[in-house]
Amino acid sequence: MAQLIADKRDVDFVLYEQLGAEHFEKTARYKGQNRKMFDLLLKEARNFAIKEILPLNEEGDRIGLKFENNQVQVPESFHRVYKLFREAEYISMSEDPEVGGQGLPVLVTQAALEYLLGADFAFSAFGFATHGAAKMIEIFGTEKQKQLYLRNMYSGRWAGTMVLTEAEAGSDVGALTTSAVKNDDGTYSITGNKIFITCGDHNVTENIIHPVLARIEGAPAGTRGISLFIVPKIWVNDDGTLGEPNDVVCTGIEEKLGLHASPTCQLAFGGKGKCRGVLLGEENKGMRVMFHMMNEARLGVGALGLCNASCAYLYALNYARERV
Ligand SMILES: Cc1cc2nc3c(=O)[nH]c(=O)nc-3n(C[C@H](O)[C@H](O)[C@H](O)COP(=O)(O)OP(=O)(O)OC[C@H]3O[C@@H](n4cnc5c(N)ncnc54)[C@H](O)[C@@H]3O)c2cc1C
Repeated sequence: MAQLIADKRDVDFVLYEQLGAEHFEKTARYKGQNRKMFDLLLKEARNFAIKEILPLNEEGDRIGLKFENNQVQVPESFHRVYKLFREAEYISMSEDPEVGGQGLPVLVTQAALEYLLGADFAFSAFGFATHGAAKMIEIFGTEKQKQLYLRNMYSGRWAGTMVLTEAEAGSDVGALTTSAVKNDDGTYSITGNKIFITCGDHNVTENIIHPVLARIEGAPAGTRGISLFIVPKIWVNDDGTLGEPNDVVCTGIEEKLGLHASPTCQLAFGGKGKCRGVLLGEENKGMRVMFHMMNEARLGVGALGLCNASCAYLYALNYARERV
């Protein structure tokens, strides 16, 4: 069979001959896991990527997103495949079983990601933005926050984003003007406008959890005064049920070269004064927390570059071989 996304022999070489992934079974943490399990994961990820994700490119490119009444709709074909993606637990492959993960080594799951990301980034981005947001809650969240969000996010029931950029605050994130005012019940009222938010709105999941950078009233200027808040699209009640819409409105989507099915959104928080968030980590220390997700995103973007280059090369190679 022609290689379409990543060359299987190449992946196996890097994993086992170069990096020695078989040695994981000798470590205490991964005891009981072996090459047979890793190969099975990679085989399933590869088959799923080729059979289910790769065909989404056509509808994603030709039909793309619909933006109506401040809501983003993804191509119809995404819904069935996302359900299968969730069932296969691809978002939480390397997470602890206690939070709903499969507990596999990141080295191995990264190889599986090469197939999944390489097949169609517009589709896979829904899951991988979610992972980074959930990971911050796992590391920095309170017990209550972990209980409310982790399983719902790692399972892909709810999606996640990262919300930093504003029209006048890109590289210079310390210039942001989104504000947070503490309420009597311990929540914060959030007000501000953000741009360029990947998967900022869509109808793939029933809720979207936004980690939002904002400045608490009276906090210092620059990055030293930035805090991070968990701001759900639909409010999450203390018992885990969904409440009212949380005044997070998508005001537009960007045109992205070639990525027509990936919603990069402009979001308005608290336009009606009714957007609430809860603090993640400590006041004024939001950048430290957000860097965990930014670093994961940087590695993801690197992996994506590799996947796209690999895919493009293999398509060209197959074409050259078949052409008389
Ligand atoms: C496809 C896409 C998806 C994105 N997804 C997200 C997301 O999910 N969440 C989110 O919050 N943001 C997202 N972003 C925004 C991204 O983080 C910003 O684009 C980035 O922070 C750069 O900001 P900017 O585009 O305003 O560029 P600017 O900050 O205006 O920079 C423009 C140019 O000026 C240079 N520059 C800037 N400052 C200086 C300086 N002080 N000295 C010298 N040179 C300088 C930069 O290197 C760059 O070349 C996304 C962007 C894109 C394109």
